[in-house]
Amino acid sequence: MGSFHLTKMSLRNLFKKPATKMYPVIAPTFTPMTKGHVVNDIEVCILCGICEKKCPSLAITVDKPAETWIIDPFACIQCYSCIRTCPKDCLTMLPQYTGASTEKCSRSITKPELSPEDKAAQEIAAREKEARIAAAKAAKAAKDELANKE
Ligand code: SF4
Ligand code: SF4
Repeated sequence: MGSFHLTKMSLRNLFKKPATKMYPVIAPTFTPMTKGHVVNDIEVCILCGICEKKCPSLAITVDKPAETWIIDPFACIQCYSCIRTCPKDCLTMLPQYTGASTEKCSRSITKPELSPEDKAAQEIAAREKEARIAAAKAAKAAKDELANKE
């Protein structure tokens, strides 16, 4: 009886479709909900470091002086915390797995070099911001001084 069942099971398995896919010959199907890998639109990223602080698995490193954003895809647990907290919405979960690799390595993205025009515009914006802050501080100091006199 036992050997009859075993033979039946073996024959059934011989002729039924395989349970696994011939990856990578047959590509897997990804849905919008597939937890793939995190990508950063580095041109929008301001290197504020919030994603690094919010990542529970310490997968992200933000190097502000070097203008570099680094992710260790092997440490990422696809929790979406960085994506939810990024103030610039520049992080996305791509519904595709990280490509196969023979080495355990991090992905590093560096902010592209600005054109001279963009650099000049950025410096002007920074100077204007500093001037606005200084004016606001001066106005507050004057207001406080007036209040103290009264
Ligand atoms: S939180 Fe967003 S803007 Fe800030 S460093 Fe991370 S990716 Fe860049
Ligand atoms: S998805 Fe989660 S684990 Fe992955 S980098 Fe973002 S915060 Fe870290």
